[in-house]
Amino acid sequence: MPSFFIRTYGCQMNERDSEALACLLLARGYTQAEDEDTADVILFNTCSVRDQAERKAVGKMGLLRRLKRQRPDVVLGIIGCMAQNRGQGLLDELPHVDLVVGTDCLPQIPDLIEECLRGTQGLVATETSDLLPVGLSGHREGQKSAFVSVMRGCNQFCSYCIVPYTRGREKSRPIADVVAEVERLAASGTREVCLLGQNITAYGLAEARQDGSYSPEISPFADLLRAVHAVPGIDRIRFTSPHVRFMNDAFVEAVTSLPKVCKSFHIPMQSGSDRILKLMHRGYTAPEYLDRVSRIRERLEDVAFSTDVIVGFPTETAEDFAATRELMDAVGFDMAYIFRYSVRTGTHAAEKLADDVPEEVKMERNQLLLADLDRRVEASNRRYVGRAVTVLAEGPSKRNPRRWSGRSDTNKVVLFTPSADLEPGDLVTVKVERTTSHSLFGEIVPTAE
Ligand code: SF4
Repeated sequence: MPSFFIRTYGCQMNERDSEALACLLLARGYTQAEDEDTADVILFNTCSVRDQAERKAVGKMGLLRRLKRQRPDVVLGIIGCMAQNRGQGLLDELPHVDLVVGTDCLPQIPDLIEECLRGTQGLVATETSDLLPVGLSGHREGQKSAFVSVMRGCNQFCSYCIVPYTRGREKSRPIADVVAEVERLAASGTREVCLLGQNITAYGLAEARQDGSYSPEISPFADLLRAVHAVPGIDRIRFTSPHVRFMNDAFVEAVTSLPKVCKSFHIPMQSGSDRILKLMHRGYTAPEYLDRVSRIRERLEDVAFSTDVIVGFPTETAEDFAATRELMDAVGFDMAYIFRYSVRTGTHAAEKLADDVPEEVKMERNQLLLADLDRRVEASNRRYVGRAVTVLAEGPSKRNPRRWSGRSDTNKVVLFTPSADLEPGDLVTVKVERTTSHSLFGEIVPTAE
């Protein structure tokens, strides 16, 4: 049977889709190749959120033109958000590509690949569908940590974001459906699940509006967390990405009271300036952001926050940028993804706002935030020295295979010497001896009863 290789760009949603697709192909008897050079089918699962990710994927696919000339039988495909967004346009730009498939057509990919293997070229599938995210078919037996899609799409239309156009409107899977998937995962050895949704705190709200049960106080996502929490065998629950607008009291209560919910929260902030937040259509102010974070922090002994920030959004002044630095400082993030604003064709910002912050200013602001963050994280990691943390063991560290790495409840990378009988997925207690801005280092100690 042919072998395949999938290269993934972008968010965890894409990683999860790639994993689901790999499982569909393995189920058909395909084998997984180590790299592009040895694969019969090469697929790029692309992201449209950042211009840089798009350019990277297009550039890399361009380089495969030579491979296609040498091995005309190899099947080249572009799938995911960029494929959804650009469809036939991608084939026009990259005529050596055989297959362009959008996010909603993922289940059709194995059949489309087979058509290409029979010699058909230039297939495009970008129809949208109302189907819910596909379930368990995307997980491998014995996988210790697994992504679970609980909803798809987004209704927020932040002015810079392409997601509502590529992934469509919000639609949530029923709780029973998600729980059944998590139960199957637990039965096959999974210990940690990461629940995925573009705007996960809005889980179930579109449906509640339809059936008349909506009120601003409800949080169907909190109900989902409780249901997943009750699944035996699951030790840890993570989720991404929440939106401050929907982090009401019911949400705060659930995430702070359920012990299996990891105490590390990725909450996109984007800017600390109320004026810019308004232009971004984010639907909250900087004080509201800080208020939600503070409400979580005051209920938990140890908690870590991470975020996404955009620098150089149209019209961003030095004052706006100072407000972002201030808010980041006030929250004290443990990690942040910082992006320089880039125009995404088709979005409100692209149509209405000139990209008027010079690239070198964006770059400088980016560097300043990274330097702030590095300083802060290095100092804040020191709080772990001498403390025992619970770690989900992942496996040998890439840099030093004599050590293993794993993640703490607060999502810190922890490196430690493994015991002889250690298995990936085991929970161990590690006493931290030293720290850097990236990792904690320590040794396994007996777990207190
Ligand atoms: S909440 Fe905003 S940034 Fe996030 S996916 Fe929806 S539109 Fe995009």
